[in-house]
Formats: sequence, C-alpha cells, structure tokens
Amino acid sequence: MTWTAEEFPGVEWVEGSGDFIRFDPDRCSACARCVKVCLGDCFEIAEKKARVKSLEKCLECGACWFACTDGAIDFSWPPGGKGYRSLWG
Ligand code: SF4
Ligand code: SF4
Repeated sequence: MTWTAEEFPGVEWVEGSGDFIRFDPDRCSACARCVKVCLGDCFEIAEKKARVKSLEKCLECGACWFACTDGAIDFSWPPGGKGYRSLWG
C-alpha cells in the first residue's frame, strides 16, 4: 500500500508486481510529457533524459506510455495489479 487514505480518499489500492514499465533512454527526447501526465510523480528529467524516479505511487494507468510518442516507454498491466479502484463505484 503506497497511497494513504488521507492522500487519496475513497480509493482502494490493489498493487501489481513485475517489470510493467520498461524505459529505453536511447529513444528519449526529454520532452517531459511523461513527467507532466504522471499523477504518481514517477518520472523526472535528469541529464537530458527522463528516468523513473520511483514507482511507489504508480497508479498503473499507462498514461506515460500513451504520452511518450518517441516510443521510449513500454507498458503492460502488471500481474495481479488493478491499480486504484474507486470505492464510490
Ligand atoms: S515522454 Fe518519452 S521521450 Fe518524452 S521525456 Fe518521457 S520518456 Fe522521454
Ligand atoms: S502508469 Fe501512470 S502512474 Fe504509473 S508511471 Fe505511468 S503515468 Fe505514472
């Protein structure tokens, strides 16, 4: 459990496992789209490349994969993972 109820009220977290985000720095143009779309604050730009800072708060949403038009991010839904699930339906 990486999100607390205080940080994300009304949400139950079902965390997945495995290498579900793969990053190819050779394809990264440092456009920072992944940084902007990621609600989990998982990416940062350093030395003119993106890098995964931490996946602790990754929502398993795949937005970084969609946003990266350079093909530097590959994403698959993790085994057992459901990301977040709203308790309000
Ligand atoms: S969106 Fe893709 S190309 Fe742009 S900074 Fe992120 S990983 Fe690099
Ligand atoms: S899957 Fe979603 S939360 Fe996880 S790193 Fe990508 S954009 Fe961020």
